[in-house]
Amino acid sequence: MIFEEFTNNDLLSQKLTRSILGKGITHAYIFEGDYQTDKMTYALAFVQAILCDNRPGYGCHQCLPCQKIEHGNHEDIFITQTTDKGNTKDEEIYRLQEHVSRKPYAGDRNIAVIRDADSMTKKAQNRLLKTLEEPPAGAVIILLSNNTENLESTILSRSLIYRVNPYHEPGTGDNGEDIRKMVRMLLVGEPFYKIKKELTNYGNSRENALRFLDGIQTAYRNLLLQHEEDSKLYKNADISRIVRTIEEARRDIKSGVNPMYSLKNMVLKIGG
Ligand SMILES: [Zn+2]
Repeated sequence: MIFEEFTNNDLLSQKLTRSILGKGITHAYIFEGDYQTDKMTYALAFVQAILCDNRPGYGCHQCLPCQKIEHGNHEDIFITQTTDKGNTKDEEIYRLQEHVSRKPYAGDRNIAVIRDADSMTKKAQNRLLKTLEEPPAGAVIILLSNNTENLESTILSRSLIYRVNPYHEPGTGDNGEDIRKMVRMLLVGEPFYKIKKELTNYGNSRENALRFLDGIQTAYRNLLLQHEEDSKLYKNADISRIVRTIEEARRDIKSGVNPMYSLKNMVLKIGG
């Protein structure tokens, strides 16, 4: 996937495009996002935008670097592996260091992606820190994290940290636009029968309902953080209450309550 194909992350993609075109790429990024968000696919879209020959800053699917990235065989990209127990060990970061120190095969960049960066052992984090302190020329290291609280503050302070929002694969229908529409309907107080009609797209399965909750929770969080134009229309206290209500619905669904029932109940509470 290339940047334009991701819903719900437009601002971040635009920012990264600008940094590539303006030669402002830095050596360490942390992409943080909840565990259901596939941050690897987003990170690889960023890498494509960096290495693309045809459309630098965006990616194209067609040039040799883009093709190699999509086929998982680009020589200048290293992706760490976790152990059977799910840890990222010191040895793996040692391999990463070797990768970013050598001369790139093509172009002038060596790229490394650390999957589940939260799982790095303390020793691995200390080793990585040395590379972040004195990064080899052209190195770009991308850490994927569910929760940056698990990372050493010295690593955080040497990285640019970006939030990747939940997105939907192209063609699945329930995209960020639909979710924003729903949030707006709730916020302006549309009558329940109208909202209920929209809900049927999400209440049909547990998985869809949870994905929907992630989406609206992100939308409300953005409002709370004043990232969205609509922010000024709502009081922070209201939004905090709504976010709690969304969390309750998630707990209910996870504990086996019927998803459609949980969503309807949540909408009534938000409206009330
Ligand atoms: Zn390309």
